[in-house]
Amino acid sequence: MMATLIDRHLTNGKVTNVMRYTFCPSCGSQFEPLPQGKGGRQYCHHCHTTHYHNPTVGVAVVLLEDHCLLLVKRNGSYRDQWCIPCGHVEWDEDIRASAAREFKEETGLQVSIGPVLAAFSNFHDPSHQTVGIWFWGIRDSGALTPGSDAADAKFFPLSGIPENMAFPTDIRVCEALKKADTDGALYQWLTSAVQMERSFSLLLRE
Ligand SMILES: [Zn+2]
Repeated sequence: MMATLIDRHLTNGKVTNVMRYTFCPSCGSQFEPLPQGKGGRQYCHHCHTTHYHNPTVGVAVVLLEDHCLLLVKRNGSYRDQWCIPCGHVEWDEDIRASAAREFKEETGLQVSIGPVLAAFSNFHDPSHQTVGIWFWGIRDSGALTPGSDAADAKFFPLSGIPENMAFPTDIRVCEALKKADTDGALYQWLTSAVQMERSFSLLLRE
């Protein structure tokens, strides 16, 4: 069933409204129209400036308790669809701080940010491409309350993830979690990832 959902998400993507400038942001000269569906950098032949269109960074936190995953029902874009609590990294903001902030805003829960569980490029919206990082989260404190940008926040068993998930890459993460939780690989991964964090990543952050 999950594979079908992914297919549906991917084939629904229409390559329209790709991020591009009509006028050069530096000098105001008009750009030649780009072919339909073509994004990426634009070079201004008038002021010789290249304008880059790069993906933004999204962060998500996986909170899994008793084989159940915390999901939020979205309020803004992708309204009434479910996702793993997530958001965009702000300018000058550390990715882990961003992940904890977004999670708190959407669920009311304070989490410690653990190791990176997954990282994917998100192409489901061609005009707003992102790089997503899914962190493992550990609940510290707080009461589960959907925040202002979430209509609901609820734990779902990994075998009963809702069909109306907003993002195809979230579905991939949910599928992998379900499989890894069933065959014990998740525990093995977590053990080695936490050891790796202790012995390597923490050193890097000193
Ligand atoms: Zn220019």
